[in-house]
Amino acid sequence: MENRYYQPEFETMSLEDMQKLQSEKLVKQVKHIYENVACYRAKMDEKGVTPDDIKGIEDLHKLPFITKDDLRDQYPNGFLAVPQSECVRIQSTSGTTGRRVVAFYTQKDVDIWEDCCARAIMAVGGTNEDVCQVAYGYGLFTGGPGLNGGSHRVGCLTLPMSSGNTERQIQFMMDLGATILCCTPSYAAYIGESLKDRGYKPEDNKLKAGIFGAEPWTEEMRRDIEKSLGIKAYDIYGLTEISGPGVSFECTAQAGMHINEDHFLAEIIDPDTGEVLPEGEKGELVFTCLDKEAFPMMRYRTRDICVLTREKCSCGRTLVRMRKPMGRSDDMLIVRGVNVFPSQIETVLLQEGYAPNYLIEVDRVNNTDTLDVYVELTEDQFSDTVKGVTAAEKSLANAIKTMLGINPAVHLVAPKTIARSEGKAVRVKDKRKLHD
Ligand code: ADP
Ligand code: ZN
Repeated sequence: MENRYYQPEFETMSLEDMQKLQSEKLVKQVKHIYENVACYRAKMDEKGVTPDDIKGIEDLHKLPFITKDDLRDQYPNGFLAVPQSECVRIQSTSGTTGRRVVAFYTQKDVDIWEDCCARAIMAVGGTNEDVCQVAYGYGLFTGGPGLNGGSHRVGCLTLPMSSGNTERQIQFMMDLGATILCCTPSYAAYIGESLKDRGYKPEDNKLKAGIFGAEPWTEEMRRDIEKSLGIKAYDIYGLTEISGPGVSFECTAQAGMHINEDHFLAEIIDPDTGEVLPEGEKGELVFTCLDKEAFPMMRYRTRDICVLTREKCSCGRTLVRMRKPMGRSDDMLIVRGVNVFPSQIETVLLQEGYAPNYLIEVDRVNNTDTLDVYVELTEDQFSDTVKGVTAAEKSLANAIKTMLGINPAVHLVAPKTIARSEGKAVRVKDKRKLHD
């Protein structure tokens, strides 16, 4: 397929030009935040750094970090860097890991964000001929508004469905011939399952691509969704603090997400020491917004763990790529002293032929951590005998043990007994926290 770019001048810019552009923007941006955000100025003063010390991106490491706790302390508008009268919108985090954060946008901030989403849509082959079904939530959550704006910019016919009401999603998808579906991967899996339940085959819909993000998902889940919907499934990443979806996006190479680094400068740091790590090393992703007016994050610690690469991409984009983050540092469970990411368990389940409907429950009984994994059987698997189920539970427990090094209790449960997600899925119940 022909490669298409929304803004080729930036998406295919040489590294040298990109770094020059980033440096120019950074110098201005540091002044902007220092002059307008008292708490960041205090952080810089404390570190003994002034805007004059920042001459280019090589000086970035001198600047203090911003953490999610800083944003919570400054709730709701301590980081607002322009008069409120210049703002046209707020969005808010979904609060997956605590109190919500409110982010402010000027019109220019919204424009840049929507451009980034337009880049993502064109990167999967989107044009004005497409019908783009946006089934991310609309409202405070950035998913719906971001992709909606991007879809308009590309000129797609936009179906602003929001999430939920799966019956209506399917009706509009079929009646209006949606060709691109945007939603969370867990909702995409649910839509795929619902289509099958209604007797549709993957080739019955007109979809060609899906743009799925806002939560971690595995390669196995990608293949599962691609099969059930008969499409190519692409990843998209973002966070409210930085703008929303479209901070980075996958191209048709499906080999990591290109970061829109003309707007969002990325670093990988050692989460324990804060030291910047070289390209290719795994660590915590940190973003600096290079031209955000209202909510100008500097070295914002995302807590997402991933790896960056500048290896050449077959799509022709020169934008640095990030590997799919497989969960945040605060999603990580420590069970009997072993680090467990829910995505590791998801990988095993799908490899073993189960559907991605599961729930992980951690508890502490007699001072020992327990790990229970509830996995839903498909209708086909359900017809097995009780004896067969016990054997299957054992075999799955073994496979998980091989991956994690600790033994879980696996419970295979009847079809349709685990709640489906229309937005970000909740896969973990950590009851230990409830006892504290
Ligand atoms: P909250 O922190 O309340 O969930 P957001 O809705 O802003 O608020 O979520 C942003 C977070 O969602 C990111 O920091 C990241 O952890 C996760 N995320 C977003 N997109 C992806 C993706 N494609 N893959 C994995 N995780 C993602
Ligand atoms: Zn690419």
